[in-house]
Amino acid sequence: YAPLAEIDPEVKNIIDKETWRQFTGLELIASENLTSRAAMEANGSILTNKYSEGLPNARYYGGNEYVDELEILCRKRALEAFNLDPAKWGVNVQPYSGSTANFAALTALIQPQDRLMGLGLPDGGHLTHGYYTAKKKMTASSIYFQSLPYAIVPDTGIIDYAKLEASAKIYKPRLVICGASAYPRDWDYAALKKIANQEGAWLMADIAHTSGLIAAQELKSPFDHCDVVTTTTHKTSPLVPVPDLENAKDLEKRVNDAVFPACQGGPHNNTIAAIATALKQVAQPEWKAYAKQVISNARTLADALVSHGYKLQTGGTDNHLVLWDLRPIGLTGSKVEKVCDLMGITINKNAVSGDASAQVPGGIRLGTSALTSRDMCEEDIKQVAEFLHRAVQISLTLQKEAGSKLLKDFVRVASTPQEGLVGHQQV
Ligand code: PLP
Repeated sequence: YAPLAEIDPEVKNIIDKETWRQFTGLELIASENLTSRAAMEANGSILTNKYSEGLPNARYYGGNEYVDELEILCRKRALEAFNLDPAKWGVNVQPYSGSTANFAALTALIQPQDRLMGLGLPDGGHLTHGYYTAKKKMTASSIYFQSLPYAIVPDTGIIDYAKLEASAKIYKPRLVICGASAYPRDWDYAALKKIANQEGAWLMADIAHTSGLIAAQELKSPFDHCDVVTTTTHKTSPLVPVPDLENAKDLEKRVNDAVFPACQGGPHNNTIAAIATALKQVAQPEWKAYAKQVISNARTLADALVSHGYKLQTGGTDNHLVLWDLRPIGLTGSKVEKVCDLMGITINKNAVSGDASAQVPGGIRLGTSALTSRDMCEEDIKQVAEFLHRAVQISLTLQKEAGSKLLKDFVRVASTPQEGLVGHQQV
């Protein structure tokens, strides 16, 4: 029962340093958010001790009466969050992460080596949507299935639905996947359903990035058109990083069997508790106001960057993220990410459409979920945009001065903790 600080001061110290980093920096990673204290309490609870392979009331272990109650509650809240009729939709909250939820969905829907089509990674798609390179099939979704990516229209940055339809006619996929990690616009689910139907394919939506905004009805609902929907719960919903996987009722058994025993063992009940707690928060009226603010902040950020003359993919955003194309000013995403790190601004380098190599991405991705969770509004975001503008200008100067004393001085000063910053003990 001794506390972490006593049992393992090394790990405690690392956690303290990370706490300090999170509290003193500006978090703009589009796939991150701040989990509530209540959800973290549930996540760190005694539920971590319990094994419960199987489903509520059909477990392979005894002593699951309370875990059953929990999982049933979590499933009910997940359906309510998306306004889904329990007579029509089932939900599985057991997948360990978004990637395993996606692999379970593929396992449920199609056979090994069947064909699927997802948005290409350089165009904003996720690894688990069939990604491979010319040299290597590097994800389970391309190792165990055949995959042909679809793309965005290079000039507009919008999904090329016409080309997808034409390719699907030739490729004849068994599954079309929509949803993305870096796509700043909403989806035309009706058009995708028509394309999938024409080929007799399933349509799956991975709403990992936008589920919180969809739950708030700020973006279109994929549930009107898709057969299976997967999501993580930690991007636009500030929940712990565990997904749930929702599926039309007649697919329910296939999905449940794909999660366990096909892809996983016992569920992590502590995280199911945290999802349940967070879903309760999503059901509160304040949630809608939060989601609206996330989008308004992202639009403010986009407008501010455009007003400085920068190029954004699609020219703006409908959701929580902005994709900034740095190629017109001659910078790579990695350089700006490094400089931002030194300035206490956390962002990530990201491929933008047409990049010659995914290894040297020409852009950065910015998201407003975490800053909005810290109660930042439009005026704050304008200031953040100014910091980003400065980061880019500094990156340009440093690029010209590569290897110079200026660069070394910058790195030294930026890496030295400044007096007056909140020490991590005080956070
Ligand atoms: N799907 C999408 C669209 C994502 O962006 C991500 C991660 O960022 C995932 C799935 C995978 O989630 P996880 O990292 O929890 O496995």
